Amino acid sequence: MPGGCGRGPGRRPRREGRGVTPGRVFRYVEYLTCQDPTGELSWAVECVSGDESDCAASSGPMAGETPAIRWMSNHTASTGHNRYRRTFTDYALTEPKS
Ligand SMILES: [Zn+2]
Repeated sequence: MPGGCGRGPGRRPRREGRGVTPGRVFRYVEYLTCQDPTGELSWAVECVSGDESDCAASSGPMAGETPAIRWMSNHTASTGHNRYRRTFTDYALTEPKS
């Protein structure tokens, strides 16, 4: 998304200067956060099915959502497990809000 540096979920509210050590002034600048289009995206899936403890089978990092879905389908087909924890990783850029 070119030029799509929107307000990401990681945006923090402006902090007040209370509790700052006397003599030092901190200026809090708000930043915009956007996804780095050159960064590599990765998906990982871990099986959390199991009666007493999680199965914990893991797909390891995968380069796309489609192989992650395929891994889950194969795991369900071979084990009957059907509950997974999915992790999505991307890279983000910040830039000062003007
Ligand atoms: Zn499993």
